[in-house]
Amino acid sequence: MDRAIQAVLDEGLRMRGTQRDLFGVQGLAKHRRTVFGRAGAPCPRCTTPVSHQRIGARNTYWCASCQPLTSAPEVPAQSTLL
Ligand SMILES: [Zn+2]
Repeated sequence: MDRAIQAVLDEGLRMRGTQRDLFGVQGLAKHRRTVFGRAGAPCPRCTTPVSHQRIGARNTYWCASCQPLTSAPEVPAQSTLL
């Protein structure tokens, strides 16, 4: 999980985000935002309507089917070596 988050963040940084930088250069990641700004529109993957919620000052969009709320992964039971 940590590795996956790291990979996504790295990719976002490589594409220089989704918005213009200080020099007005458009980030290259915009085309990857498949659900952002599409509240109520069908998810491109499973056609479930995209959910939207304003969290603090940020608009958050997600597919409740592809991106379900989950709790922290369970720690596997420790096996005994004896
Ligand atoms: Zn979906």
